[in-house]
Amino acid sequence: MTAPLRVLVTGAAGQIGYSIVIRIADGTVFGKDQPVQLVLLDVPQCSNVLEGVVFELQDCALPTLHSVEAVTEEKPAFTGIDYAFLVGAMPRREGMERKDLLAANVKIFKSQGKALAEYAKPTTKVIVVGNPANTNAFIAAKYAAGKIPAKNFSAMTRLDHNRALAQLALKTGTTIGDVKNVIIWGNHSGTQFPDVTHATVKKNGTETDAYSAVGDNAFLQGPFIATVQKRGGVIIEKRKLSSAMSAAKAACDHIHDWHFGTKAGEHVSMAVPSDGSYGIPQGLIFSFPVTIESGEWKIVQGLSFDDFAKGKIAATTKELEEERDDALKACDDANI
Ligand code: NAD
Repeated sequence: MTAPLRVLVTGAAGQIGYSIVIRIADGTVFGKDQPVQLVLLDVPQCSNVLEGVVFELQDCALPTLHSVEAVTEEKPAFTGIDYAFLVGAMPRREGMERKDLLAANVKIFKSQGKALAEYAKPTTKVIVVGNPANTNAFIAAKYAAGKIPAKNFSAMTRLDHNRALAQLALKTGTTIGDVKNVIIWGNHSGTQFPDVTHATVKKNGTETDAYSAVGDNAFLQGPFIATVQKRGGVIIEKRKLSSAMSAAKAACDHIHDWHFGTKAGEHVSMAVPSDGSYGIPQGLIFSFPVTIESGEWKIVQGLSFDDFAKGKIAATTKELEEERDDALKACDDANI
């Protein structure tokens, strides 16, 4: 009998939470033979909603769902977990300045970083979805240091990656399975750089580079990038709510691949602590192309950049450094 994995979802009463828990519980993320103990955390005001989600999960009658519990405190949430989906975050309210939003989130992720260090397994793997995701992951990793290695912390840029795959497939009249190796560089924000320089598209049985398959450089360096960067805003405009189904699916793709590994010859985008690759400052949680084997990610090395790409990467790096510095200031701890 396989030992169950204990999996935490924070913000589980929210809209991404509602779409994510079923995929974790039904075996989509960890496999159909892997039992899961699901722990759902949200703030005390949401305890009724959380209980409703627990009841629904029970009613799904899923063979892989070993147990499910709703909690509103960190200790029972983080104790003994193998994986954490950190989705819950303070949303931006009208009139709120960026630095106030950052300060509110720093508080949450500092506390959760400490809780991870105190209660979770030292092998716990973390995906941060709640925005600003890269910087929240940086803060959580900082406060879990000493117990959980920084390499176990990541932030989600898989939704941006999936959006880039979908836009390329739409433009070339192919399907998702025909497109691979797009890259999201940098921050999960408007400065991210969706890069197709190393992507390929299979059309009529032949695999070619994305630039040849599209045959329109101006599109790939203009509208394509803008569409991926601004997709989240467009979804809000249309739905009056932010992306939830696609965000939940992307978070599950991210953890699925971290758990099972990437396919041969393919990489995915994941925001992970920089080891200095491509000149990105060490420790910054930066989205890179990664391959994964036996639960360990590796940044794809040796990719070349033209001046256009260099400019885009410099802009997103600068934004992330500023965010990190503001967050550290908010922690009253600017010396690390
Ligand atoms: P939501 O408002 O529907 O749900 C968020 C939930 O988090 C709420 O139930 C709230 O009570 C809870 N929460 C707040 N503080 C908490 C805390 N300290 N501990 C536990 N729970 C807490 O929002 P949503 O649409 O589910 O989005 C969640 C987050 O994901 C937002 O920050 C959003 O910006 C972000 N997001 C990221 C991506 C990405 O690609 N990285 C994509 C979409 C959304």
